[in-house]
Amino acid sequence: MSEEIKAVAENESAESNNFIKQFITEDLAQGGRCEGMKVHTRFPPEPNGCLHIGHVKALCIDFGMAEYFGGLCNLRMDDTNPTKEREEFVEAIKDDIHWLGYDWGDRYHFASAYFEQTYEYAVELIKKGLAYVCELTPEQMKEMRGTHDTPATSPYRDRPIEESLDLFERMRAGEFEDGKYTLRAKIDLASGNWNMRDPVIYRIKHATHHRTGNEWCIYPMYDFAHPIGDALEHITHSLCSLEYEDHRPLYDWVVDNVSVPSKPRQIEFARLNIDYTVLSKRKLRNMIETGVVSGWDDPRMPTLLALRRRGYTPASIRNFCEKIGVAKNPSIVPWSFLEYCLREDLNEHATRAMAVINPIKLVITNYPEDQSEKFVIENNPQDENAGTREITFSRELWIEEDDFMEVPAKKYQRLYPGNKVRLKSAYIVTCTGCKKDEDGNIVEVYAEYDPETRGGNPREGEKVRGTIHWVDSKTAVDAQVRLFDRLFTVPDPDSASVDYMECINPNSLIVKDNCKLEAGLADAKPGDGFQFLRLGYFCADSKDSKPGALVFNRSVELKDSYSK
Ligand code: ATP
Ligand code: MG
Repeated sequence: MSEEIKAVAENESAESNNFIKQFITEDLAQGGRCEGMKVHTRFPPEPNGCLHIGHVKALCIDFGMAEYFGGLCNLRMDDTNPTKEREEFVEAIKDDIHWLGYDWGDRYHFASAYFEQTYEYAVELIKKGLAYVCELTPEQMKEMRGTHDTPATSPYRDRPIEESLDLFERMRAGEFEDGKYTLRAKIDLASGNWNMRDPVIYRIKHATHHRTGNEWCIYPMYDFAHPIGDALEHITHSLCSLEYEDHRPLYDWVVDNVSVPSKPRQIEFARLNIDYTVLSKRKLRNMIETGVVSGWDDPRMPTLLALRRRGYTPASIRNFCEKIGVAKNPSIVPWSFLEYCLREDLNEHATRAMAVINPIKLVITNYPEDQSEKFVIENNPQDENAGTREITFSRELWIEEDDFMEVPAKKYQRLYPGNKVRLKSAYIVTCTGCKKDEDGNIVEVYAEYDPETRGGNPREGEKVRGTIHWVDSKTAVDAQVRLFDRLFTVPDPDSASVDYMECINPNSLIVKDNCKLEAGLADAKPGDGFQFLRLGYFCADSKDSKPGALVFNRSVELKDSYSK
């Protein structure tokens, strides 16, 4: 294990340092706001893309805190921006969360379901003199937003209440084109916090919404809709990532100034960043649209759909989130730590199998041509309940190309003329040479087996250093194997100073056709996972693998190849 991974893995303080737990515990002890209430959180994804591992961190915290305090967690689709939201994402998100093992029960909501109430609260603000209809264009608003030392201005700030009420009603009725008016909260044009300088809380947008259709042509901004949704659902603690910290005063202002039925509280935690990847739906979408990857579920993507397809298990991902902890300080977690968590889980649970990715024929010259035999091997030496299976052995086998060297390199212990090697679980063989074509390429390797070493056990006193895997060529099944590597060549493609599209790793996907698998894998079902001996963990691709045309994804290597 690399030092870097060790440091994260041994972050035992992750649990005890969970400041959100402390915060909620203290909050409950104070009584008042949450008196008599269960801890109630929510996970609020925007259905404009699929969940990535950053969202998974957030939802593990939301569902996890509710679970820890014996409370409840709602799922709320944050669908206040009609142009990018789609029903297909709603379904994908729900499926992802269930796959992880979390459930929202009957507490399934949509921000759009509160549009009417949200509108009424906006009217309430206008009536209280706390909101006004503004006519500045976005450009003008920018020009007039002031500086650090000078306040923003708006010539419409003192528009009479009646006029704002009338205009807002007509905005809703569809009398104006997009951008003509906005509704702004009247807070503090001189505030040191930009979000408090009379933020826009409603805008005109003639667009069809995935749920409300054409019912609305004005939509509330996130900063207004979110606290209202939280309050209507009696959320006690609204947990979100750190970029919302500066929005908290506005969140509190909304909750304090409209007559919502409860007073939720926002708590922020650090966003998850992972090296060699980007965690932003906008960037991920761009990579899909430009064809860098094949879709949200391309196994190289940091989305949950992709990780699932790649062979990640719910346990490995939940462990990952648990171990990285809930810090307040942003940090970059190595991608290799995610892989470490997967390896830990698969090592315990994956069925072992033999597969050859770069095949070359090994002929056992003293083994009768018409003979075949069977060996019984354990499915998983780590798990005595995993059972056994049979594999066949005959005169011609497939082995990995690099398990033979005509002239051995220093310390090379596998097949070379004169050397003895164990064929895993079968026999000890002695290499006798190879055959080459006109161009000097090795086309076959030769060896003789020792019938006295059945099971791969050397004779007494005999030393055999190398062990290699193999597949019987008589019964082997063909497969395509896809090898994945990091999608980016730099550790921080997400940083503002880097153009992530300029540092895509051209070798992030290597497709190997003509791979040879042991016969039993012929009926591997999509999603079935295995440890291919000496090679890594692989799973049958859930989209492309079919009986007779198997496709396997490499989930993760056996060891971290970057720390070697
Ligand atoms: P993106 O920037 O990728 O589009 P988002 O925040 O706009 O993300 P949402 O669907 O609104 O996407 O996010 C749902 C929840 O997930 C929010 O509460 C947000 O705080 C949280 N979240 C998003 N990205 C991360 C991350 N990298 N780490 C932790 N939490 C995150
Ligand atoms: Mg968002």
